[in-house]
Amino acid sequence: MARKRRNPSIGSDDLVAHLRDIASNLWWCWNEQGWSVFQTLDPVEWRATNHSPLATLERASAARLEALACDPLFVKRVYDALAARAAYLAERAWFQRGAAARLRGFRVAYFCSEFGLHESIQQYAGGLGILAGDHLKSASDLGIPLVGVGLAYRHGYYIQNLARDGSTQVLYPNYDFHRWGMEDTHRTIACPIGSRLVTARIWRTLVGRIPLYLLDTDLMANAPEDRRLTEGLYKGEPQLRLRQQVLLGIGGTLALRALGEHASVLHLNEGHAALAPLQRVADHVAQGMSVSDAMARVRQSTVFTTHTPVAAGHDRYDPALFLREVAPAVARLGLGDQDLLDLGRVDAGNAKEPFCMTILALRLAERVNGVAKLHGEVSRDMWKGHYKVPAAKVPIGAITNGVHVRTWIDPDAERFWQSEIGLRLGKQAPKAMGWARAGSADPHAFWGLRNRLRNRLIHFLRDRVALQRKRRGDGQSEVAATYGLLDDQVLTIGFARRFATYKRAPLIFHDCDRLARILCNPTRPVQIAFAGKAHPRDEGGQAYAQQIFEMARDPRFAGKVVLIEDYDMHVGRMLVSGCDVWLNNPIRPHEASGTSGMKPPLHGGLNLSILDGWWPEGFDGSNGWSIESAPDGSTDAQRDAFDANSMYERLESEVVPLFYERGRDGIPLGWIKRALHSAATVPLQFNSHRMVADYTRKAYVPAHQAGAS
Ligand SMILES: *Cc1c(COP(=O)(O)O)cnc(C)c1O
Repeated sequence: MARKRRNPSIGSDDLVAHLRDIASNLWWCWNEQGWSVFQTLDPVEWRATNHSPLATLERASAARLEALACDPLFVKRVYDALAARAAYLAERAWFQRGAAARLRGFRVAYFCSEFGLHESIQQYAGGLGILAGDHLKSASDLGIPLVGVGLAYRHGYYIQNLARDGSTQVLYPNYDFHRWGMEDTHRTIACPIGSRLVTARIWRTLVGRIPLYLLDTDLMANAPEDRRLTEGLYKGEPQLRLRQQVLLGIGGTLALRALGEHASVLHLNEGHAALAPLQRVADHVAQGMSVSDAMARVRQSTVFTTHTPVAAGHDRYDPALFLREVAPAVARLGLGDQDLLDLGRVDAGNAKEPFCMTILALRLAERVNGVAKLHGEVSRDMWKGHYKVPAAKVPIGAITNGVHVRTWIDPDAERFWQSEIGLRLGKQAPKAMGWARAGSADPHAFWGLRNRLRNRLIHFLRDRVALQRKRRGDGQSEVAATYGLLDDQVLTIGFARRFATYKRAPLIFHDCDRLARILCNPTRPVQIAFAGKAHPRDEGGQAYAQQIFEMARDPRFAGKVVLIEDYDMHVGRMLVSGCDVWLNNPIRPHEASGTSGMKPPLHGGLNLSILDGWWPEGFDGSNGWSIESAPDGSTDAQRDAFDANSMYERLESEVVPLFYERGRDGIPLGWIKRALHSAATVPLQFNSHRMVADYTRKAYVPAHQAGAS
């Protein structure tokens, strides 16, 4: 090593080995020192592969690798990246510096059905997965002993293409897990599903210090039907969904045991993995404990986070189906059919009541939380029937979501805050980042940053729209016209999230004439960028995508509306950094938290949002805007009209005028003040370091202590 340092020129085989080494731990994806070497390796392929290190490396020519191996600056960057990662992995982080570091055997198993870690690793559908990915990254940064458990989906979620009529075309690619840097542990488990034993391979991905284990049933040993179990995310009918959940909960627990990964605390991120604690109960029973003692023991050490504020959104299964698929796996408990079913029912013995996974999770977890204060309240009301106490007494709390800052912040913005306010993101502690000083940044320099980020976004959007048009077979003139779309000096609104119907993506088109007056005002124009996927079976959500597709071509809006296909983490990162305003108009209170609105403030972007999810906690009157929502008891039509009207009013009377109110120097001082206040207030609280620290203090450590006693 020392010799190489002095003469940093190596053979290209060594270079490839070092680059593979960097790619072997997802640390690269939130550390510029990691990902930027692959970008330099081949900027064109880096983009073409949606930022995949190993795919970029595979496509690099021998000549390019030879040349870089002889480039001392590049070789030094590679060594520096490896050294930075080694230092990161060895560092005493927040957790190691606290008293909890002395707890014996403290380790959390974090179960989730999806993990959104990077745009090149398509294993997520939306916010739940993004949250789980951010959770793992913050756990790594803070040094929390934690291991992730999930499924490895051969097709991922899906690739969304819009046809010429705007209808959704669903593509299922076959992914190569090795190319994502996933490592085959060469360990398998046999998971009982129905009367069969299904074999699953265990893949390991390293997320900094955190191992993530993903199960995959696509093996020769399995029947064709079982091989397809891990084909896709949220695919298919209830039977397949339930079987996936058996694999996640029971198979995931068996996998941890097979690997010798002992966890003292179990965290269920959403109810999909609710069978995991039941398997832990079965393990205790196998060692001679009574079922009731084992239940009490497991309950003490289990944490459950619910994410669904709508009753119909919780997984419920037909009792016969549930018994058929699950009973054999938990036979060791010796429960009769009725007792087993009652674990997932509010009403014991009610043969008509389906089995609800959330109720199972509520029963087997002592510590339960929603993902924002308002969502905690909604959840207490929703589950009071299960607890049989008034809502105020229901033991469901709230730990509000956050975002992993290093994953979402643009490097240009990070450098800006570093030089302007001394922001320090490298510090591995939940606070002490310096955001509170954002208000003291220089307004001119800040406006320069905003203009750069907006300009870059506009170019990105035009390129993407051009590609979409080419793919659909549009004529040359239409493709060329793309480069006249949008304007980098115009107030830019962003709306990107899953097109679930409750999020009401097309609400702003409620009154097209009024919107046209807002967008096409000659002195104060406005433009909007949309992105989002609807679930392949959600016809309502797909109709929304189609409606926006049509609006983007409507001459009334004169090229001021664009829709970007195949929303992913990269599209998201571009939009949250470049947009001036982030629009959020769900049906209140259907948004449990929402996290995308926490990302623009990292870049001085402003939220314009219904007071739902995290926003009632985040909004202080001057760090963005609220949208009033319709009073309870309104019909759907009344509610949409009311909410749309309050959105238009806010835009017309406050948002647009403030953006265009320019001083003699051409900059909007009032806007900048508000934007800097957004950066000074939102990231401080709504980051995932704070969230994971809260989970650790309020849930993991108490669960460990209670479970151990
Ligand atoms: C942040 C993010 C989400 C979550 O957005 P919501 O506002 O919670 O709907 C979903 N998908 C992607 C790609 C994201 O980056």
